Amino acid sequence: MALEARTLPVTPFRQNCTILSNQHGQAVVVDPGGESERIFQQVSQCDVEAILLTHGHLDHVGGAASLREKLTAHQGKAVPVIGPGQEDDFLLKTIDDQAAAFNLTGMENVVPDRYLVEGEVLHLLGHSIRVAHVPGHTPGHVVFLDEADHRAIVGDTLFRGTVGRTDFPYGDATQLITEIRKKLFCLPDDTVVLCGHGLPTTIGVERRTNPFFK
Ligand SMILES: [Zn+2]
Repeated sequence: MALEARTLPVTPFRQNCTILSNQHGQAVVVDPGGESERIFQQVSQCDVEAILLTHGHLDHVGGAASLREKLTAHQGKAVPVIGPGQEDDFLLKTIDDQAAAFNLTGMENVVPDRYLVEGEVLHLLGHSIRVAHVPGHTPGHVVFLDEADHRAIVGDTLFRGTVGRTDFPYGDATQLITEIRKKLFCLPDDTVVLCGHGLPTTIGVERRTNPFFK
């Protein structure tokens, strides 16, 4: 059966935290950027299998350590934080500094239980979720592909009509475009793309109309 996906915009950056769940009351939380208590309340009735992270920016990971702690205590078993790629380690270690620069509180550094690499398949919620490495916005950015459901959770790689920022010292615009073409545009047209900010889109619409790929 198809997984249900709910989006919860968190932090002043309105980052889309995504909650995937199945008919058995199991759930996975992707990119809990902050407001961990609010996210916790949304999933407290569920058996949360894992917390997944796409990349190391504060608005995507700032609430991960605290959510892991709350869920592990509540469920009485360790709930792992999985991802992003190890290349984003330098960002995960400086969430406190990133938050201070924006005058934000309630965001913490996080040490994942494990990092992810290109091509891994995660078995969660009775589904196979494939991991693709799509660097360029950050070096360790990964996306989560649920091919059975024609759904892609893409963080800050591809957006409706645009792509992720690459104006960071570690950003690479050419690499981002190349990787999106290679890893995302090969998916079926009707694949629903859940973006890190703003409204969802589909692979077909972006392949045809996104100005960054003309
Ligand atoms: Zn980002």
